[in-house]
Amino acid sequence: MNKPVDQAVTQIPLWINGKPASATSTRSGEVTNPATGAVSGRVPYCNEADIDTAVKAAQAAFPAWRDTPPLRRARILMRYRELIDAHRDELARLITAEHGKTLTDAGGSVQRGLEVVEFAMGIPHLVKGEHSEEVGTGVDCHSLRQPLGVCAGITPFNFPAMVPLWMYPVAIACGNTFVLKPSEKVPSTAMRLAELFKEAGLPDGVFNVVHGDKQAVDAILNHPEIKAISFVGSTPIAKYIYETCAHSGKRVQALGGAKNHAVVLPDMNSAADLDFVADSLIGAGYGSAGERCMAISAVVAVGDIGDALVNAIQKKAAGLRIGAGDAKPDGKENDMGPLVTQAHRDKVAGYVDKGVAEGARLVMDGRTYKADRGFFLGASLFDHVTPQMSIYRDEIFGPVLSVVRVKTLDDAIKLINVNPYANGTAVFTRSGGAARKFEREIEVGMVGINVPIPVPVAFFSFGGWRSSLFGDTHVHGMEGVRFYTRGKVVSTRWPDANAVPTGFNMPTLG
Ligand code: NAD
Repeated sequence: MNKPVDQAVTQIPLWINGKPASATSTRSGEVTNPATGAVSGRVPYCNEADIDTAVKAAQAAFPAWRDTPPLRRARILMRYRELIDAHRDELARLITAEHGKTLTDAGGSVQRGLEVVEFAMGIPHLVKGEHSEEVGTGVDCHSLRQPLGVCAGITPFNFPAMVPLWMYPVAIACGNTFVLKPSEKVPSTAMRLAELFKEAGLPDGVFNVVHGDKQAVDAILNHPEIKAISFVGSTPIAKYIYETCAHSGKRVQALGGAKNHAVVLPDMNSAADLDFVADSLIGAGYGSAGERCMAISAVVAVGDIGDALVNAIQKKAAGLRIGAGDAKPDGKENDMGPLVTQAHRDKVAGYVDKGVAEGARLVMDGRTYKADRGFFLGASLFDHVTPQMSIYRDEIFGPVLSVVRVKTLDDAIKLINVNPYANGTAVFTRSGGAARKFEREIEVGMVGINVPIPVPVAFFSFGGWRSSLFGDTHVHGMEGVRFYTRGKVVSTRWPDANAVPTGFNMPTLG
């Protein structure tokens, strides 16, 4: 079937050395507007030579940027922060046009990214070393954190601004230069972010944007001048990135997919608490059409709360307004937009088919939602889902919520702790003791207590455990600073009449 084509199909360039650049590769792909299904852009798929051009620009910019005092780097970030803030609505429109999420949701994700820029503005303080005097007679010792060189980021489709902003502001603040490869499904936001960074005063070549698919990614992974790679995307690709980088000795952090559980304890059974929990769960399950790595996809109903909880979720979810992310029918924005592509929409709908075939009770069927164009799917709710079913096991990444029933909090904790994914989780309860037990015993990277989507603020670090993260460091916060710098320790002795002479034995400096 031929896709409709928007009247003006934008040709999206690369961003190299502070300006738009053409790719030499002849391969390219379509960018679509998920709300209409129309082709809105064409994006080049870079080859090895294109990646090399971007890396060379970043390499050439590195020495001067490394030697720029952190306070001056921070001042550029301060101007960048102001520009992102001033262009927040424009960036949100770019996100909505290629991803499909609502404008308010898109604006919120820009805000969360901007907060990482705010964190990175503190770089003079964040890279301060330590100093100890007289560690031995006449000997002092101090530590430094130094930038790595050219770093690269490879990002997914679901947060076109926020996930890249988790990476490059921190890397660049630390004195590195950067090559970003955003998802080929949503390439335009990164381009605008690059233009704004130049406007903020960033020297040419410090931040570069390339586009493409596996070929571009492999060229990044294999480029000998790229010193560190940050990846966010699905688990199989995250594992591939991690293994490939480990093989060549590159520093790597690779964040993968998720299956996030929300545990609801039986003490949340008052009408007001059920209302609060149901509101939280429909936002966390169906917001952004379920295309969030921190979306709740499994609700674990503990004890006898299952029936009341499923009723409460169903009642709220029945009122969800589905439609274009930039539309305001009756003057009010929709709650949920389309999925990112037709193929993804069909895959998610296929999971609803599977859930029915596997014997789960389909309480709400999103497949019945009809739209005359675009990649829309309604919200689905399954009850009596078991851990063996594919709708429970797999990351669906769509508006499908599964309710699993267990007897006790211990059962809920066990269930979550054996899941291969371990990105985020939440518990809903009024009991401090139960919440404390959950917090201590749950083996997941990010935990919410009556907070359904516990995405850490920028000055903490974001990352999951097990198959949700390959590598040792999480992104942004101090772990981000550590990832993008390496430590050096210097021991100093100056010639002095009282100096202890060095000898042949292991120096004890004493
Ligand atoms: P994806 O893994 O398909 O793509 C991510 C990036 O990898 C893109 O830039 C893409 O071009 C590239 N890529 C795709 N296939 C590749 C291949 N075979 N070889 C090399 N590179 C390849 O992910 P997506 O569909 O864009 O995003 C959704 C996924 O990202 C979900 O699994 C979601 O959970 C995950 N995600 C995780 C986090 C997190 O913080 N853990 C955050 C956002 C999204």
